[in-house]
Amino acid sequence: MSLDNKPIYTGGCQCGAVRFRVEGALGTPSICHCRMCQKAFGNFFAPLVSVTDTDLTWTRGEPKRFQSSNHVKRGFCPECGTPLTYEAPDGIALAIGAFDEPEELAPMVQWGLEGKLPYLDTLSTLPGYTSEGDTESAEFLKTMVSYQHPDFDTVRWPAEEAGK
Ligand SMILES: [Zn+2]
Ligand SMILES: [Zn+2]
Repeated sequence: MSLDNKPIYTGGCQCGAVRFRVEGALGTPSICHCRMCQKAFGNFFAPLVSVTDTDLTWTRGEPKRFQSSNHVKRGFCPECGTPLTYEAPDGIALAIGAFDEPEELAPMVQWGLEGKLPYLDTLSTLPGYTSEGDTESAEFLKTMVSYQHPDFDTVRWPAEEAGK
């Protein structure tokens, strides 16, 4: 929390080339099932939260934008492709999964129901495993080195450049 008690949120893309900071009250977290959001996120739906009533700062880099319609631009990291923004005339929303603490942003409403995929409601009934529980991937996991930016702001990134 800042001195004037505005909530602060941070986040960014997978590679760390683009980082953001949001000060103030977020809008209602949502998911959108519409076909354009599916494509923009390469996913079943788009999880988004409005930052229209906040101070949004790009603290490292800035998204590249694709104009997906005459009204809307979609922002993404130009280096790694992580979807980051939905930018409409009435404001900007950020991708919930890009926040450093997405668990704080539980969706409260759904949009674009006409595009909802038929198997979504049964996903939670599928058989499931933790990464550690997948014994065939044990060696893969043991030798894996992550290049993903951590879930907090860094002074220098990538880390190996920090000493140069
Ligand atoms: Zn990136
Ligand atoms: Zn949508």
